[in-house]
Order: sequence, then C-alpha cells, then structure tokens
Amino acid sequence: MFKKLTLNDPVFNVQNYPLPPLGEGPEGALRGINLLIIHCSATLPHQRVTVEEIDRWHRQRGFDCIGYHFYITVDGTIWTGRPLSQVGAHCKGYNAHSIGICYEGGLDEEGRPCDTRTLLQKAALVALINKLREMYPTADVVGHNDLDLSKACPCFSAVSEYNEGE
Ligand SMILES: [Zn+2]
Repeated sequence: MFKKLTLNDPVFNVQNYPLPPLGEGPEGALRGINLLIIHCSATLPHQRVTVEEIDRWHRQRGFDCIGYHFYITVDGTIWTGRPLSQVGAHCKGYNAHSIGICYEGGLDEEGRPCDTRTLLQKAALVALINKLREMYPTADVVGHNDLDLSKACPCFSAVSEYNEGE
C-alpha cells in the first residue's frame, strides 16, 4: 500500500488530481492546499519506525489510515502516506488545506524533543518541499509547533529553515 517515492513519481503531477478547485487562482487546485506542515514521529534515535507502523498507530487512534501524506525515514527515503487528494489527520484545525510531512525521529535518547534529522532526511525534506512548491507555489512551509504552540513537533524551526530569503 505504501511505496518509496522518486521525485518524478506521478504523485507529484498535479494533473493527476481531477478534483474540482476549492478556491481561486493557483492555490485553488487540489483541496486549496496553502500549507505544508512538517512533523516528526516523536520516536527515539535508535528506534526504527516504518511507514506501516505509523499507519498502524494512527488506525489505533481511530484514523482511517496514516494521517501524514509523506513520511521520511532516517535513510532519506520518502514514502507515500495518505493520498494527497485526501484530507490528512496531522494538525487539528489545519488538515483540510494542508499537506502533512513527517520525518522519523524527533526525540533524543532520553525522550526529550530533539532535532534528530539525518543529513539524508534534511536533503529529502528540501527536495520534497521544493517539489511540492512547484505544485503549490503559494503554500507556506510551517512546523506543527507554529500552528499549535503546545507542541514541540517537529523539534526545529521549519519557518526559519524553509522560508529563508522570502
Ligand atoms: Zn506533529
């Protein structure tokens, strides 16, 4: 059900989403996506968590399936999650018009919030974000903690890292 992605995968072709636009202008395509929201899995550095496992956890919480649209493991692999055309379940109040991207990790060995991204994950995040920005040029990149101040997730400042020079 989940697959490894390359950046020329049809999943990144906006033509493949025959949904009626929700709004006006380029941001109107595909659910009116205007936010790319970055998350972490909130798991320990030595803990390997597959996309299937996240899917299982989210189903246990009562979701239909994995709540994120993309998941990036420590080896830098980008995995498909919930289909882009479907509203995610990752950030209360912001799911309808956003895409949820999660990286594996986010806690130190003591279980405290920590930016544990590997170089491969950082590179994959940049590549994925750039690809999604081609599809949704007006979308902002933010962290879960920018929208919900009670959260540490994703344990780094997505706004300052991904919106440099804007
Ligand atoms: Zn989060």
